[in-house]
Amino acid sequence: MKLFYDLSLKELKKWLEQHDEPDYRADQLFEWAYQHNAGSFDEMTNLPKDIRAVLGEEFIIGPLEPVAVAEDEDARKLLLEMPAGGEVECVAMRMDGYTSACLSSQIGCAVGCDLCASAIGGCERSLSAGEILLQLISLRAIEGSIRNTVFMGMGEAFYNYEAVCESIQRMTDDRTMGMSASRITVSTAGVVPAIHRYATEGPKTELAVSLGSADQEIRDMLIPGMSRWDLGDLMAACYEFSRVRRGQPVTFAYVMLAGVNDQYHDVDRLARLLGAQPHHLNLIPYNEVPECPYVAPDEETIDTFYRRCRDAGLNVSVRRSRGQAIDAACGQLRRGTSR
Ligand code: SF4
Repeated sequence: MKLFYDLSLKELKKWLEQHDEPDYRADQLFEWAYQHNAGSFDEMTNLPKDIRAVLGEEFIIGPLEPVAVAEDEDARKLLLEMPAGGEVECVAMRMDGYTSACLSSQIGCAVGCDLCASAIGGCERSLSAGEILLQLISLRAIEGSIRNTVFMGMGEAFYNYEAVCESIQRMTDDRTMGMSASRITVSTAGVVPAIHRYATEGPKTELAVSLGSADQEIRDMLIPGMSRWDLGDLMAACYEFSRVRRGQPVTFAYVMLAGVNDQYHDVDRLARLLGAQPHHLNLIPYNEVPECPYVAPDEETIDTFYRRCRDAGLNVSVRRSRGQAIDAACGQLRRGTSR
């Protein structure tokens, strides 16, 4: 059986035509699926019974019952078993007055960041657009409305470029979820050709880039899968993104690791690297992973680093990750092993 959320509107209309049903049924179906989070075709009472039965034989619809749920005061993490196989983690983070979803784009990740639980075991496979949407639908079924979405769960979003873009297209379509593209952030470890491509033809979302370090050698050690592109190429791609998007800044995520990238000279390197382009620098104190050799700097070091960045003219903030207590923070998501 196929996942209903994998159907585009065009494909759904074609399917309806093949079953002698009028076009407008597609809008009805999308409304049920995406606006009402329908758990089955039987709920769709404005559709004829016989077509509901055929749909039910061919397609899977409805939020998934999580295999495991972990929760603390500011986050809820779901472990979902995809109907096509494979386990995926996604997170709802409670911000001030709204909820943000953190979605996975792949099962595992091939980038191999030295500091990330998702990298352990490599990449099993990429998720389809429908499987990405299914995470959002499943989170929404528990959390109610979700305002913001970030692609910062498992996987390198730009190694699953087409499916990620297709899922965003569906999220932002007024006939489906009607989310604002500006409230969606796609995160990449720095796939340079994909940044160029996304700048010109991608949905008008925010873009975040994991920097690791402003020093090439340290960056290559922390994010080995991106070492084929140097920092110069990466910055040129980000500059191009901001130029094409009329000044839209790129967010640079900088995971702070004690003794690795939290020294005074790291501030100077950051200032040199980012100073000339529209940016927002997000300092993220490391969320520890038992298998990884790093620890977060102490509070004083983080505060001093932040102030020095600010004094160097950088547009900087410190992002406190939500969900650390349940291993749901940045870099802590993994396959079913956290149950
Ligand atoms: S930090 Fe992101 S890109 Fe790096 S291994 Fe983890 S999921 Fe992949």
